[in-house]
Amino acid sequence: MANQLMSVAEIHDLAKSTLSKFGADDANAGAVADTITMAERDGCLSHGLFRLPGYVATLKSGKVDGNAKPTVKSLAPAVVQVDGHNCFAPHALQAGRVALIEAAKTCGIAVMPMIRVHHFAALWPDLEEICDNGLAAFSCVNYKPSVIPAGGKKALYGTNPIAFGWPRPGKSPMIFDMATSVMARGEVGIAAREGHTLKEGVGVDADGNPTTDPNEILKGALLAFGGYKGSSISMMVELLSAAMIGESFSFEAAERDIADGGPPQGGQFVFAINPSLVRGNEDWADHAEGFFDKIYEQDGTRLPGDRRYENRAKHDQQGVEVSPIVLEKIAAL
Ligand code: NDP
Repeated sequence: MANQLMSVAEIHDLAKSTLSKFGADDANAGAVADTITMAERDGCLSHGLFRLPGYVATLKSGKVDGNAKPTVKSLAPAVVQVDGHNCFAPHALQAGRVALIEAAKTCGIAVMPMIRVHHFAALWPDLEEICDNGLAAFSCVNYKPSVIPAGGKKALYGTNPIAFGWPRPGKSPMIFDMATSVMARGEVGIAAREGHTLKEGVGVDADGNPTTDPNEILKGALLAFGGYKGSSISMMVELLSAAMIGESFSFEAAERDIADGGPPQGGQFVFAINPSLVRGNEDWADHAEGFFDKIYEQDGTRLPGDRRYENRAKHDQQGVEVSPIVLEKIAAL
């Protein structure tokens, strides 16, 4: 069956109305629909409409409260804690973001620990607005164990993505956003769905043996990128998303989780830095642009995010080709 052409507004309507149908209130459904739509529009298919059945599963099971109202609390001038009360993470992020931005603008750096949220998305949508306010930003989130610590055999870390954004006044920010596993689990899921084999070194089967079969990796575990180096970065994500903010390590989240196909309850760590205050003047922007020019001077380079922004410009104009398999799954809900 052919892909279906949908406008960005139609994608948002489909996501929001589906979530509303399963009990999410306007704010929860709207925030998740924003994130799903951004992913679909930017060509990040593993976190677009593909995720909608998982979000719905958690509403149906009652694990996520689709009517939760996040509370925002200042723990210190530069610490803005958001308690999601079991909402989807995008709603909690939207609730705390303005306070985080204000705190970073005033203090130079501010941290936003998010607790009792369910994160099932890409991280870059969480950083764009922070960067658009002239701030650098970082976020990371853990999940359930699916990555082996270097040298081990048993999954302990989540796929634990990290994202870093740099503001570019007058332009879209540079944001890189990457799983610390060799491949995101969502991408392994897509390969399994489409019947592709994966390259060697992505993961192991349930017995710890290397395999290129995505179905076996889904039953087994992934490897961290870059061997022990990526493994340490993944460990850092666990510490920041759990011990640092009073939330769960991936293994603790899994112990509590009811495995309904959606995200477990956990934490998300976000911080923002104001380069104008840290540097003491406004020269940071031109200085960084000169550096980006040096990167672009070399053939074959691009900045992280450039692919997404190109997709965005095209899809805003022409609409998005959406997979019929994904639409069938949503219709079947
Ligand atoms: P990719 O490996 O596809 O991309 C990682 C980053 O590298 C992106 O910012 C990408 O930019 C950039 N990039 C890719 N190619 C180049 C290049 N040639 N030159 C410069 N930059 C480049 O991402 P992953 O598969 O690791 O992760 C996919 C998504 O999955 C992420 O958004 C992540 O947040 C999400 N995720 C979420 C989890 C969760 O629990 N919530 C768990 C794990 C992952 P560009 O986008 O422009 O291509």
